[in-house]
Amino acid sequence: MKNKVQLITYVDRIGCKTLSDLKDLMNTELKGLFGGVHLLPFYYPIDGEDAGFDPINHNQIDPRLGDWNDLRSLSKEVDIMADLIVNHMSAQSLQFQDYLEKGNDSSYADLFLSYDTVFPNGATEQDILTIYRPRPNLPFTNFAFKDGTRKLMWTTFTSNQIDIDVTSKMGTAYLEGILDTFQQAGVSMIRLDATGYAIKKQGTSCFMIEETFDFIDELTKKAHDRDITVLVEIHSYHKTQIEIAAKVDYVYDFALPVLVLDTLFNKDASNLKKWLAISPRNAITVLDTHDGIGVVDVAREGDQKGLIEDGRLDKIVDQIHANSKGNSLKATGEAASNLDLYQVNCTYFDALGGDEKAYLMARTIQFFVPGIPQVYYVGLFAGKNDMELLTTTNVGRDINRHYFTKTEIQQELQRPFIQELQNLLIFRNTHPAFNGDFELLPTNDAVLHIRWTNGEDYAELLLDLQEGDLKIQSSFVEEKVL
Ligand code: BGC
Repeated sequence: MKNKVQLITYVDRIGCKTLSDLKDLMNTELKGLFGGVHLLPFYYPIDGEDAGFDPINHNQIDPRLGDWNDLRSLSKEVDIMADLIVNHMSAQSLQFQDYLEKGNDSSYADLFLSYDTVFPNGATEQDILTIYRPRPNLPFTNFAFKDGTRKLMWTTFTSNQIDIDVTSKMGTAYLEGILDTFQQAGVSMIRLDATGYAIKKQGTSCFMIEETFDFIDELTKKAHDRDITVLVEIHSYHKTQIEIAAKVDYVYDFALPVLVLDTLFNKDASNLKKWLAISPRNAITVLDTHDGIGVVDVAREGDQKGLIEDGRLDKIVDQIHANSKGNSLKATGEAASNLDLYQVNCTYFDALGGDEKAYLMARTIQFFVPGIPQVYYVGLFAGKNDMELLTTTNVGRDINRHYFTKTEIQQELQRPFIQELQNLLIFRNTHPAFNGDFELLPTNDAVLHIRWTNGEDYAELLLDLQEGDLKIQSSFVEEKVL
């Protein structure tokens, strides 16, 4: 993976209608800003209930966006990361519809995971209670077959997303088929979506168990055989994330978004520094994504301490709600049909109360910590919460999934502070120091001092939280003060 900033975007929410429009955008307004793009699901249909994470046909690009040739052509301009949605597919898929019609006579019968696949001799109450659920309901949906019989299908997310039995022959072939399609279309990185849930086993949490690691391992080998690098998407307790990181190509640094807020809100970098001392180096860093701001990633797990102490964490969440004038509250928790109760839905800019200087500080910290940075399209334009979209759809995460028009994008890119952000992106992409060694220099809690050194080259961030100023010093680029 190139050590350059990547954009996270939907094809159709960034002033584009098609993949070929997006290629034009990457070659014009966004030229030089990104080394790669994580294209959020572009399969048929892009506008399902879970915004593409509920594919009816994972092997088909939504025809409204173009086809695999268009993707291949885009991949010649910029590296492409695509989602491999391993855990489920839409209930409307041809495969599941066939299964509902023919039951066990369907050739797809083994593709899906039902209650009785996992619990052939029934489950105890304890078995069910042990299943890890960041959502309020149980992961089963009652489906009626054509012959009138009923079955509980495993549905980790919504009842329209049917879990795949990834250990079955059919499941294995299904995933390999998608990898082949990706390879032919020039996809060089995949994001294993919601992989933590892929393997279910009676008596376990059915989340990130030993067998899940084996599954990720095997799939990673298959991806590598096709020259594809793997990013594993898992929200979890920070120590689990460290364990996962040791075994995979890349993990997300999902702790960073809240730790940066903690640092800026409390003028205290101690928690962030503790994390940076141990955080995985094979990380993709984010401040924002198409999902909410993850809280489990910094919170305690049972008796084990989190990265941020409970009371302080509650206050950070309250502060986000206050900064967004209560709007994030309308999109979070049990409000607005959320899939993830432990994520706060809010744009990162609004989480910082629309404070431009704080926002640039946050991005600078992101670009200086270890890992390859990704910037979400709404974040690129420092977007505000889209209350209109939230009201229309009542989907919490839509607050941070604005549909930008081309004109809006052109205007946003002209804002002086967004130009500053673009300069930062270019600096992060081009300065050789970032290919060298990372060092966290000892300072008091109100100061964050990071240095990258690569031979003669260096880049340094010095953030004084009390004074509210940030300096970037580096070889051959003038000193920058925010
Ligand atoms: C994606 C979510 C999606 C879920 C189910 C994830 O972790 O990021 O947007 O809803 O997987 O596919």
